Amino acid sequence: MKQNFAVIGLGRFGTSICRVLAAEEQDVLAIDVNEERVNTLAAVTTQAIVADAQDEETLRSLEIGKFDHVIVAIGKNIQANILVTLIVKELGVPDITAKAENDTHARVLKRIGADQVVHPERDMGARVAHHLLSPNILNYLAINDDVTMAEVKMTSPEFVGKSLTELSFHQRFGLTVIAIQHGDQVTVSPAGSDVVQLNDELSVVGPTKAVDKLNDQMTK
Ligand code: ATP
Repeated sequence: MKQNFAVIGLGRFGTSICRVLAAEEQDVLAIDVNEERVNTLAAVTTQAIVADAQDEETLRSLEIGKFDHVIVAIGKNIQANILVTLIVKELGVPDITAKAENDTHARVLKRIGADQVVHPERDMGARVAHHLLSPNILNYLAINDDVTMAEVKMTSPEFVGKSLTELSFHQRFGLTVIAIQHGDQVTVSPAGSDVVQLNDELSVVGPTKAVDKLNDQMTK
């Protein structure tokens, strides 16, 4: 389904969001004070505009309140980031994603109504560190302080060649298997009879400690 997105702030983070959304054929309005950055995206996005998003009148005239999603990707200028988030909230945007520089900033953004607050550098750093420490963990997403979604590579003979029912991830680890990737083929919501093969990538969700336990078991 085609949706409208406005991306405010075209650093590496905002630019990358614009490119992926545009490649997925979504309507994208890109905004930045920096003309060069706007010009770079003009050929890719539906519309690209040079503007100071702290100016409420500008955002009103762009009818920002009618967008399905707004991404506030201004980083270092925390004051501008907060003000723009506040304005787009007041203009009625139903879904706002804002980039935070630190935990205090994230708390403020949540308080003023950002629906999603992201910390790209921190999250990517955590992901890289987890992968370095645990090569079997291919992807790691902390849903909150206690719950994690992870993609775990199946390399241990203890797991390979067995069905999900035999492996009973839920009883043994408290983990729910949400997908199995075998080569290019992904089975979402796999059945108990699905068999785990060598190097399959299992997406699991559950307590962070349980993901760690599964990883320890995989590398034994
Ligand atoms: P990134 O970490 O994503 O690469 P960056 O380090 O280039 O970003 P940031 O300070 O995070 O720079 O700003 C991201 C973008 O937001 C910049 O291109 C900047 O010009 C733009 N920006 C900053 N303030 C505003 C504003 N008030 N209105 C519109 N764009 C803004």
